[in-house]
Amino acid sequence: MNILVTGGAGYIGSHTCVSLLEAGHSVIVIDNLNNSNLETLEKVKQLTNKDLTFYQMDATNEAAIDQVFLNHKIDGVIHFAGYKAVGESVKKPLEYYQNNLVSTMVLTSACQRHGVNRIVFSSSATVYGDNQVPFIETMNLLPTTNPYGESKTISERILTDAAKANTNFSIALLRYFNPVGAHESGLIGEAPNGIPNNLMPYVTQVAKGKREKLNVFGNDYPTVDGTGVRDYIHVMDLAEGHVAALENLTEGVHIYNLGSGKGTSVFELIHAFEEANGVTIPYEIVDRRLGDIAASYADVSKAKLELGWEAKRDIKAMCRDAWNFEKNYVEMTIAK
Ligand code: NAD
Ligand code: UDP
Repeated sequence: MNILVTGGAGYIGSHTCVSLLEAGHSVIVIDNLNNSNLETLEKVKQLTNKDLTFYQMDATNEAAIDQVFLNHKIDGVIHFAGYKAVGESVKKPLEYYQNNLVSTMVLTSACQRHGVNRIVFSSSATVYGDNQVPFIETMNLLPTTNPYGESKTISERILTDAAKANTNFSIALLRYFNPVGAHESGLIGEAPNGIPNNLMPYVTQVAKGKREKLNVFGNDYPTVDGTGVRDYIHVMDLAEGHVAALENLTEGVHIYNLGSGKGTSVFELIHAFEEANGVTIPYEIVDRRLGDIAASYADVSKAKLELGWEAKRDIKAMCRDAWNFEKNYVEMTIAK
């Protein structure tokens, strides 16, 4: 299939391009390079020994998107493009709603106009809010604590309504849990700008000596050891989950949790990282982070049953590959 990948130069998008190319699909990437670099796509080509088409453009630009649909016979779209920093979304709600919602609407209406029915959307476990674990697709969603999370909940609703009106649409709403790690080669991975918000990139920067110690946000949660529990998923497993969703989609809207199904605490992750990589991660317990929940992990049975997909790589592999990428990573300039 010819697959249009928005945000394909980003962290999850670039790994998914690798999996798509390896599975024999053709890839057309659009990305405005707001949070990524062209070099990443060169590495995707190098890794797969395959070519892809790239357009530097904004996913909210309706005329430009239309032109891409005219230039190519597109069979499906994976929509990654968007802003993703939770804290920043509280400070810049309008930018987040503008980028994340308008891109979803522009893309969906372009699909409608051009008769492209397969759409895979990057949602997030954050839409569950502070629900009872494990999170399952049939749960009622609870309010999230920030505009980023709300933009995902609203995007899901927009796509669901679009599919009610156009019964040819086959839409997958993929709720990612906590993507971590990097391609096994260490050539592509996660390279956040500035101080990382997320645990794994913070840990790898501590291991590298770029940061002095990890701040552990609270050890008084009702969890196995008091620290926050999350469902970490290797980014290559996540990438393969997109290919499975795309290839197995049927008409209507289908929601899938993409996670490992296992909860890992902050302390457990630190220990797994130390063991996998033979390094020490100094840490300090500090106050809870505002808006954090105690535990988030997935019920993953639906994706396994309907897509024949499940995560294969364990927490040690995630830690090893995250560190392998960070060790080799030389900072690149982000084109703004
Ligand atoms: P990322 O920032 O690495 O990738 C997003 C890409 O989209 C970047 O290359 C950026 O330049 C591009 N982009 C942003 N706005 C754009 C626009 N208007 N037009 C064109 N390109 C645009 O982020 P990621 O971690 O790869 O996340 C991909 C998607 O998955 C996002 O929608 C994110 O919200 C969602 N998601 C991510 C996580 C996570 O923990 N990383 C978890 C759940 C959901
Ligand atoms: N966390 C932490 N220190 C950090 C970053 C995160 O203790 O510097 C904790 C956080 O409180 C949560 C877990 O690690 O329990 C995962 O946080 P992350 O931001 O990676 O994911 P999210 O909370 O968005 O699921």
